[in-house]
Amino acid sequence: MPGTKIINAIVLRSVAYRDFDRMLTLFSREEGSISACARGAHKPSSPLSAAATQFCTGEYVLEEKNGRYYVKTCMLDGAFYPLREDPRALSYAAALTQICEEIVQAGDPNPELYDMLLRALTYLSFDKEHDATNVVFPFLMRTMVLSGHGVMLTRCASCGGRIVDARFDDEAGGVICARHASRNLPVITGSDMQSMTDAVRGEYRPSEGDVKRLCRILGIFVRTRLERDFTALTFAENME
Ligand SMILES: [Zn+2]
Repeated sequence: MPGTKIINAIVLRSVAYRDFDRMLTLFSREEGSISACARGAHKPSSPLSAAATQFCTGEYVLEEKNGRYYVKTCMLDGAFYPLREDPRALSYAAALTQICEEIVQAGDPNPELYDMLLRALTYLSFDKEHDATNVVFPFLMRTMVLSGHGVMLTRCASCGGRIVDARFDDEAGGVICARHASRNLPVITGSDMQSMTDAVRGEYRPSEGDVKRLCRILGIFVRTRLERDFTALTFAENME
């Protein structure tokens, strides 16, 4: 049908618009970021109210009118409702969507990031064995690789040589030798190094062990590299 688009998408953001509409920022697997209006979705009886809620995912049918997209229907795949019962997991989930919103561009699909976000939202909702930071830390490590800001791990980010002891330096872009690091930079132990390496190896999955401290270090790195603060991330970190 001309003017109709079918996409698989996740709602990154949903804001009230006019009296009863909602404006959605969708992360589509096929085309990257797309803004679409869900007409009447703000009414509780609307068939679109679930589809216009943050984190919801499904197959969206969009109609184009005068250069704008409107949600016609949505076949919902998941809503991640358990997030609403866990404020900390919810804040971390919001942080991941904010970071995706910053990275994903219109007309520029990023299926790896899309699939990873879906899996991270699933873990944050249903995996009770791991802390939220075990889900978020490898997500941040991998997101930075996908956005071209991967943490330097194999060689010193400062001298380019083999790393002697280690500290983490955001400005330099990763792990650097302790001998040319400022004393107030965080120390990276052998086991930290292993956790960081494991986080970007193989399939995306939650990290093992306690990665709370590493998750904070990565949070600062993400803000430095993307030159943006992420309010939901700060909020989530302050809940620990
Ligand atoms: Zn060095």
